[in-house]
Amino acid sequence: MAAACAMLLFVAGALIFRSSQPSPDPGEGRWVQAAEELTDYDVTLKLLPDSREISITERIAFRNCTGEALRDLVLRTWLNAFQSEDTSPAAAEELYDACYPDGFSPGYLTIHDVQWNGEQRPYAFNDAAQTVLRVDIPPLPDGEAGEMTLRCVAKIPVCAHRTGVVDQTYQLGNVIPQVPLYQAHAWRTDEYVPIGDPFVSPCANYSVRVYLPEEYVPACSAALERNADGSWYGKIQAARDVALCVSPNYVMASGRAGNTPVYAYALSREGARRAMEDARKAIETFTSLYGDFPYPSLSVCSVDFPFGGMEYSGLVMIGQTYFLDTWKDTLELTVAHETAHQWFYGLVGSDQVNAPWQDEALCQYAMLRYVRARYGQSSFDSLKYYQVDAPMMERIPGSLTPGSPIDYFGSLTDYSAIVYGRGAALLLALEEMLPQGIDAFLAAYADRFAYQFVSRAEFESFLNTWAGADCSPLLLDYLDTAH
Ligand SMILES: [Zn+2]
Repeated sequence: MAAACAMLLFVAGALIFRSSQPSPDPGEGRWVQAAEELTDYDVTLKLLPDSREISITERIAFRNCTGEALRDLVLRTWLNAFQSEDTSPAAAEELYDACYPDGFSPGYLTIHDVQWNGEQRPYAFNDAAQTVLRVDIPPLPDGEAGEMTLRCVAKIPVCAHRTGVVDQTYQLGNVIPQVPLYQAHAWRTDEYVPIGDPFVSPCANYSVRVYLPEEYVPACSAALERNADGSWYGKIQAARDVALCVSPNYVMASGRAGNTPVYAYALSREGARRAMEDARKAIETFTSLYGDFPYPSLSVCSVDFPFGGMEYSGLVMIGQTYFLDTWKDTLELTVAHETAHQWFYGLVGSDQVNAPWQDEALCQYAMLRYVRARYGQSSFDSLKYYQVDAPMMERIPGSLTPGSPIDYFGSLTDYSAIVYGRGAALLLALEEMLPQGIDAFLAAYADRFAYQFVSRAEFESFLNTWAGADCSPLLLDYLDTAH
């Protein structure tokens, strides 16, 4: 997610241009090798705009790589959290009016069928918000595989959030049920809290087929191409998730960053062109700093929500306000931050619930680094003052630190200042301390842990080895000490 929170503005005006069809060119990337041992998802989606529903058929070829026998499989059904005001992440007081300007609107999944290896299996939700679907399966030894089939219908709420529909634009983050990370002999069952991104998932391979009414333009983590039957199809390997944004109002601009196709979808031709250029520049800058782009393509989508942006593998959502001419600098910074997540979140996964700094502070630093690479030291210095120095000088109530888990935070403002701003200060301190600088470390970190999940302890251990010194006191000071 991006640090800045936009005030919502309504973007009016008829759309004149219609997108042309993207031309995916996935090519051969390093994700191909990473994909070999991963779970395969085959997902078919059909949008029914009249009822705001999406029918979902999902086949999951699950490989048990947990190191132990499993008696159940968990799917995270995040959409169900939107079912009631008590559990919706959009219904927090700070967000409610921006997310539900016309009042509360429920979103949920209706499950029709759950099968394992062709047989119906008992299932139950394990949490009040019904975001943890636990399916009993016959014992599955480590190293063995099986196939789960899930058929369900997603009711999309009228909600300006990472999941919702606004003015015919479907913002479909975290709608497709997926298997979470298995860690410490248990599935991750984190609560869908309103602040931060509570999604912790291993990389997996996704094939996606989408059926849409003719006038809808789809953007997807997997670049889609049109089939003869009118459906859209694409795939993405070694991805943390798959998100889509579809709208009859999208205009698309396309370009390339090296071998990587870049698509941007917005409500105006100029907005799409600008976002595509920003993403292209961000990919080029971060590729030179942190290694090759980790996915076959990147899509940047204008959405209506009260956040700056939101990252998914191969797709980022950006608040539509930033596409206005007067916000173009903010658009560029937000696109840079979200694009950096393709490396620090997508390529290198980390615990976004208990250590949100591990992707957010890195991406905020990467955004500053982008500015220095593109616009020079003085631009970097002035942005650093607002983004890092000012949060360091702020009086923060309580004992919140950048190392705090997301559910400690009660406001987006605090979360942003502490995890992003003060968190980025750690990276700037490491830049001073490490003989080869922080960028060389981050490039080595991205390479070493590509398509894996990295705990804070592993980050620290790798850093200490890299530095040839014990950096733990520095991390303790920046991440765990309230100033
Ligand atoms: Zn972020």
